[in-house]
Amino acid sequence: MEILLAKEMGFCYGVKRAIEMTQAVAKEKGEIHTLGQLVHNPSVIERLEQDGINVVSDMEAVPQDGIATITAHGTGKAVTDQIAAQNLELLDATCPIVSKVHRIVQEHAERGYQILIFGDPTHKEVRGILGWSAGRGAAVASPEELDSVRLRRKICLVSQTTQTVERFQAVARRLMDLALADALEVHVVNTLCFATTKQQAAARDILHEVDVMIVVGGRNSANTTHLAEISRDADTPTYHIETAAELDPTWFTATESVGITAGASTPDWSVQEVVTWLKELDAVAS
Ligand code: SF4
Repeated sequence: MEILLAKEMGFCYGVKRAIEMTQAVAKEKGEIHTLGQLVHNPSVIERLEQDGINVVSDMEAVPQDGIATITAHGTGKAVTDQIAAQNLELLDATCPIVSKVHRIVQEHAERGYQILIFGDPTHKEVRGILGWSAGRGAAVASPEELDSVRLRRKICLVSQTTQTVERFQAVARRLMDLALADALEVHVVNTLCFATTKQQAAARDILHEVDVMIVVGGRNSANTTHLAEISRDADTPTYHIETAAELDPTWFTATESVGITAGASTPDWSVQEVVTWLKELDAVAS
């Protein structure tokens, strides 16, 4: 069985940076608290807990002398204001690419623009970006949803960083159609992340050459889920797994080639475990 690995996959720059930042501080101070999961991957979270990096769901759970850590996904302005009001020490591990989206949104909101964010409204990154829009923002999850939004005279459209180019294009095109019909001003700012765009392109490079695609990463990871969607959209049989323990030999009956990709929050060891499992399966079969 041939195993093809996507040329770009696994931990992205923002995730590596956040892990290194938090590990360095936890080593020095003994313990820190992250507001939500540092990365959307259960096996990474387990290992980080062993380093004293604890996940809390809200700031009330951070001890008064503790360190409140904002994760790579970022957060809204109200949360950073509250951390300051509570006199908590802040460790800001927001990915600089996400911070840039916050600045774009804040500046446009201050200049009177309505802010539209293409993305999953329940995702932490999208909620964080909305938190910089001074109440002038809304999230839209599809081109169709734009039809029910009351558009203002000046609109700024940005994207959740991990969306696909094609989907952002579809939303931007629909918005332009609506805006041109009504003589509205629109700023479309491409806020897609280069790391996930490259990973998506690398997955596309191999998914037509393989019989089965394995996508490794947390089920709550947006960019991993998008990789699986891209593969399924190309009609390649696709399995999204969190760990090698989920692999099933029946998926690979009469399979000559398997492709593997992984999301930006997936550690190398998870991918390696999948490769080892496939090699062992192949050895038993031959
Ligand atoms: S996926 Fe991109 S935006 Fe998100 S943390 Fe990684 S580098 Fe930053």
